[in-house]
Amino acid sequence: MNSSASHGLLYFALCLLVASTGCAGQGGNAEAPGSDAATGAASSASAPAAAGDPIRVLIIDGVNNHDWERTTEATRATLEQTGRFVVQVSTSPRQRASREEWEAWRPRFSDYQVVLSNFNDDCEHVGGCESLWSEATKADLETFVREGGGFVSVHAADNHDANWLEYNKMIGMGGWGGRQAGVHGSIMRLLDGEWTATSPDEGISGEHGRRRDFLVVHDQPDHPILAGLPTAWMHAEDELYSSLRGPAENVEVLAHSYSLYTNEDEPILMIITYGEGKIFHVPMGHYNDESEPFGASLHCVGFQTVLARGTEYVATGVVTIGIPDSFPGAEEPVVIIPGDVVW
Ligand SMILES: [Zn+2]
Repeated sequence: MNSSASHGLLYFALCLLVASTGCAGQGGNAEAPGSDAATGAASSASAPAAAGDPIRVLIIDGVNNHDWERTTEATRATLEQTGRFVVQVSTSPRQRASREEWEAWRPRFSDYQVVLSNFNDDCEHVGGCESLWSEATKADLETFVREGGGFVSVHAADNHDANWLEYNKMIGMGGWGGRQAGVHGSIMRLLDGEWTATSPDEGISGEHGRRRDFLVVHDQPDHPILAGLPTAWMHAEDELYSSLRGPAENVEVLAHSYSLYTNEDEPILMIITYGEGKIFHVPMGHYNDESEPFGASLHCVGFQTVLARGTEYVATGVVTIGIPDSFPGAEEPVVIIPGDVVW
């Protein structure tokens, strides 16, 4: 175990100490619906940012079949540590809240340059379930991205709402949540060197094997998000999402990993275009188990690096964030809490 992993364990122990105050706990009480800065009267400036100004990010959470509170904590800390972002969070009503409460949840997406989703409607029923988002909130997000806003989908955000077609166009492909062959689109496979939408009528629609370290291999090493990074690096203990299914339109696969579950290369970093907007889809980033060291996948320096650079890219179209010296190579993952990463 290296010193980085020790840091992670120390952090985990500290979290246990303060668990009663909300550091841990998927089932903990969330903020009151609509109480966050994003849906309240306060709003940030809506004028376009000048070059070098902090990028305005809105993280959305509140329902997820994962520990969304600590996932938000980690992703927010990673973005803030770079010094490039100002981050606000909009926490939705609880899953069983009334329709009136859901109707009232309308984050002001247009106040931000990029929205990062750590949200799904926690629906694994065959055929899907009732959509939690109001039609107005869905339309707000569609308009925001279509008109040029950035969107980032982290891990199980791609489990969200199988039957919201425009959302699935934004993320390219998703998994679980009632997705099925013959209904919800295609799987992308590397055929003759080209990522190709295939198998619309057969196969699974989202699965993963046991959590493990896995190698991330770049397909587009010169893409601004990846330029200058090692072209293969070891990601720390995570679920490798496999056979994601969706419209699979306007998807550029930047990197892939080999699944021991499907015995196929699976897209692991994607850029999707939707109207004038760009989406960064990162299937990595599982955290849901109190028994593991907190957030090995979320605290992987490779994950943190591509998350920050990808978020900047879909917000601005360029990448100025550097590469930590601690970035992993192909042999071993490197796990460091966000506050200790030197950018
Ligand atoms: Zn997961």
